[in-house]
Amino acid sequence: MAPVPMRRPGRAASMADLALPAWATGLPHHLPPGLLAPGAMAVAATELRMRAAFTDTPPASSRLPFSYQAIPGPLRRLLANGIGRLQRLRQAQWARYPGWPLDLSADIAADLAGSPGVTFARTPVLLTHDIDSPEGLRNLHRMFLPLEEAVGARSANYIVPCAWPVDDAVVQDLLARGHEVGVHGYDHANRTAFAEPTEREARLAAGHAFAQRHGGAGYRAPSLLRTRALIEALQPLYRYDSSIPTSGGAFPVPNNGCASARPWRFGRMWELPLSMPRDGSLRFLGHSPTGIGALWREVALRIAASGGIVNLLTHCEAGFSGNPPMLAAYRGFLEWAAADARFELMLPIELVNRLDRDWPPAA
Ligand SMILES: [Zn+2]
Repeated sequence: MAPVPMRRPGRAASMADLALPAWATGLPHHLPPGLLAPGAMAVAATELRMRAAFTDTPPASSRLPFSYQAIPGPLRRLLANGIGRLQRLRQAQWARYPGWPLDLSADIAADLAGSPGVTFARTPVLLTHDIDSPEGLRNLHRMFLPLEEAVGARSANYIVPCAWPVDDAVVQDLLARGHEVGVHGYDHANRTAFAEPTEREARLAAGHAFAQRHGGAGYRAPSLLRTRALIEALQPLYRYDSSIPTSGGAFPVPNNGCASARPWRFGRMWELPLSMPRDGSLRFLGHSPTGIGALWREVALRIAASGGIVNLLTHCEAGFSGNPPMLAAYRGFLEWAAADARFELMLPIELVNRLDRDWPPAA
């Protein structure tokens, strides 16, 4: 059914005047002004999803002649914190589109078009970690897995395959305990997305060898730097990618994200949007661990109402979520989601198996 316009006296018709889906009430959005026929609205939905989906311009860190990870962690965090507090004051510039911390404009448009795509009555909750360092892998094993297993949950862990010696015994143990392993780029130098084809193929092949060794089916781009060329190169190698945030905020570049919390396909490969605000961004912006926990619950409820997926990324290093106050916020979120029948904690690979069953690729 076409949405019913409700004009107010003296105002031109705008999207604010349309009957938005009930779940979108009060959510900021960036829909085109005026009335659109369903066909045109479907085109707008795709345009909104892809408008800022890629990071076509490399940030400074990917142009450095050395890996930025060679900057000592505390100094890197200090720099990032200083930048973050300034960035919080400048939100109007880095969150023009998509908005922050949640923007579901593409999903609103898809519902208005009458072609919602993949939605869920019960909300999948994906717990994911990017494992950037040996410290991250140690902390994952020691601090995060027990919290997840205590609520019957398992996590997906995207490990940097070619920058430091990965402790295979730990990887084997987390697989044996039912967790998932995926690939986090090559060496986290933030170059793969922008490399020439030959170099990109070599980096992706090395990462894929790691995936094959551990049964990995998913990819997460370091720093979420992704280009169309990268996504195309991933398609023959992985069953899913999870590198595109719903609302990327200020990182890795201002105004990035897909404004959707619903999975979609690139070719045969699924894209699982990273729908929740990330621990790194929130800490950079100066939010307290308690505030982060509250924001996660609020955003998760909004996503649940919209029919999307809750896809949470936390980093296990002490400077991110591997410390007592952030672990308490994470545990609180896990216990809250596990106790609410609206949510269903699952692995990304389990979700992808279900999507392939229920949404087979076009012949
Ligand atoms: Zn990373």
